Amino acid sequence: MSTTAEKHTFQAEVRQLLDIVINSLYTDKEIFVRELVSNAADALEKMRRLQLKENEVFDDNLDLEINITTDDTANTITIADYGIGMTEEELVENLGTIAHSGSKAFVEALKSSGDKDANLIGQFGVGFYSAFMVSDEVKVYTHSWHKDGKHLCWSSDGKSGYEIEETEGQRRGCRIVIKLREDCEEFAKKERIEGILKQYSNFVSFPIHLNGDRVNKIEAIWLKSKKDVTDEEYNEFYKFAANAFDEPRYRMHFSADAPLAINSLVFVPQQNTEKFGFGPTDPGVALYCKKVLIDPEPKGLLPEWLRFLKGVIDSEDIPLNISRETMQDSALVQKLNQLITKCFIKFLESESKDEEKYLEFYKEFSRFIKEGVATDRTHQEQLAKLLRFESSMTEKGKTTSLPEYIDRAKEDQKQIFFQLGESREAIEASPYLEAFKARGLEVLFCFEGIDDYVLNNLVKFGEKEFTSIDRSDVDLDDSAPAAEGEALSEEDTKALCEWLQTTLESKVEKVQTGQRLVDKPAVALTPAHGMNPQMRQMMQAMQNDLPPVKVELEINPRHDLIKKLAAARESKPEVAAAVAKQICDNALLSAGLLESPWEMVDRVYDLMGEVI
Ligand code: ADP
Repeated sequence: MSTTAEKHTFQAEVRQLLDIVINSLYTDKEIFVRELVSNAADALEKMRRLQLKENEVFDDNLDLEINITTDDTANTITIADYGIGMTEEELVENLGTIAHSGSKAFVEALKSSGDKDANLIGQFGVGFYSAFMVSDEVKVYTHSWHKDGKHLCWSSDGKSGYEIEETEGQRRGCRIVIKLREDCEEFAKKERIEGILKQYSNFVSFPIHLNGDRVNKIEAIWLKSKKDVTDEEYNEFYKFAANAFDEPRYRMHFSADAPLAINSLVFVPQQNTEKFGFGPTDPGVALYCKKVLIDPEPKGLLPEWLRFLKGVIDSEDIPLNISRETMQDSALVQKLNQLITKCFIKFLESESKDEEKYLEFYKEFSRFIKEGVATDRTHQEQLAKLLRFESSMTEKGKTTSLPEYIDRAKEDQKQIFFQLGESREAIEASPYLEAFKARGLEVLFCFEGIDDYVLNNLVKFGEKEFTSIDRSDVDLDDSAPAAEGEALSEEDTKALCEWLQTTLESKVEKVQTGQRLVDKPAVALTPAHGMNPQMRQMMQAMQNDLPPVKVELEINPRHDLIKKLAAARESKPEVAAAVAKQICDNALLSAGLLESPWEMVDRVYDLMGEVI
């Protein structure tokens, strides 16, 4: 049979990706074997499922297996599977485009990571293209499982496009023939491929043959007892389960007979791949029943916030025929979910005793813990113990947990104080902190916008409510710090507050005096009913029309400038008004609430003119 080949061009993102794959990824080239074997195993797994319900399958008598052959004379490696294969449309869709959204961002991530991270290819589901790391002539012979399908050959040099033509005599599935580039001829050697398969593909659950010999052992190590599994075996399994080639940060191997029969082996990887700017990753813990894969990415098996975990949960209580649709509603799956989640939180809590290691983990994965605290009501309190913050009582770079905060808190302290800010330095320079420091009250430092949301959702810990220190309703009147210098009289202060209230009318809701301030003349406080600065910035970023900011201004009647202002109010009313406005703008600036800074520029010039 001879038909003309049909030419196609690659989608732009694929071209960019291939350009990087071919020209920039020099190390870890061997990952292409793992990627193609893992695709073959996926295709076989899909076939296994189809065979349960379809009677009309092409080549129905083929065994579900993978056959790899190397030829060091022709310099080729061939990876063949008897899986579901591909139709012409599927070839175009799967091997000519990058299906998932965010592929652009992925290409960017890959570009910037240079040749260190060829591993990313597998993590982001574009593994097939890794074949072009070692070849500029790849052929995919395929026949789909559909009885009326065609025998097809897809071929490409990995540059601009590919061709698809009809061929003869295909078996069901895919046979990928890779003609190795001269500098990659090592992959035509049986021993080299055998080594790679042993390292990455030992746990593939279909037989793999290399030049006719069986290589993988298919072993469910999660069913073994801990003492019978070596660290190497665990790590090898992690690489298989996570499609990774680094080593896991943590592993939890856990078995129980009651209330459910369960064997699980889960890992925390090194990297949080979401940080590259994609949406949430798919669940990474597969569900098995007595070694049979039920669902590789089961939704609802674990809470969303645990989507960074990789591994396996095997429970013989799960019915084999459970459908993906009903999984989430199944009471059994819910129970499994609760059990594993509880167990994993306990596990982390105990691991956190090795502080250094835990903080490394936390740096990479705190987002997920925080997400859990904010969304998982059932486990919120336990999870909160896993949070870490720098604080006014830790050194820079060191952290405290909430239980430690509670231990240090004063006996009658009813609140847990926190402050949001860009950095430790920004929070320490803000006017809010001094009153708390002077009273020996610890303040947690929150550097991420979501911290505010998380703590507000958590509401309290150990019966103490979370309170941001820039709020006007913070109760601080006890044990005032020894005031330095003489303060304005009560009467003068009252008159000054009233005058300020009129002078600053558009910007302040209230002007008052209080005990917070030590070294600064004034501070802007968020009214109890008001929106905090972070929330305000977020709303503005979303282009919401917000009413102008109105704060409560607290002045320091012991401060020299305030005393001078009280006197100048009558002797130099114009300068006094300008100074009052500037004090207010400075306070807003410190609070991150100053909205039209240009207004103050001319005023500052005028004031400079006064003092020079
Ligand atoms: P991923 O496998 O992560 O989706 P790939 O780039 O490796 O990304 O593969 C793209 C798609 O091509 C797969 O999702 C699958 O639909 C198809 N594919 C790849 N290899 C095979 C194969 N051996 N048999 C059938 N389909 C395959």
